[in-house]
Amino acid sequence: MSETIPLQRKPPDPNTLRGLVFAATGYDVRRCGRCSYCVKHARPDEEDLSLEMLLQLVLQNDDEVLTSKTLWSDGVLTRVRNMCISTMDMPAIMQALRDEARKRGLVPAQTTG
Ligand code: SF4
Repeated sequence: MSETIPLQRKPPDPNTLRGLVFAATGYDVRRCGRCSYCVKHARPDEEDLSLEMLLQLVLQNDDEVLTSKTLWSDGVLTRVRNMCISTMDMPAIMQALRDEARKRGLVPAQTTG
């Protein structure tokens, strides 16, 4: 009789944006299925990136995400609480990214967050 061998997923590299989000929140941003639900509900006055694009930049380890208007918008932070179809906790992910931006000294000047 053969045994079932459990799949072992390697956690993402903690030195990447994806890895630090995973370490801080337990969410792997690869769960984003790019369904565009959050894009359809975007508010251009508060966002320069959709949440979908924000997560894609995290996957690409692009630190442009850390200074984006979307990341630092308190309106977005409040509004996206139950936004993600993949049930990721977007406010927790945004807070982890804000923490990393603060560590790197990348908080936009007009931001108090
Ligand atoms: S709703 Fe969630 S899964 Fe869908 S595109 Fe936006 S972040 Fe990705």
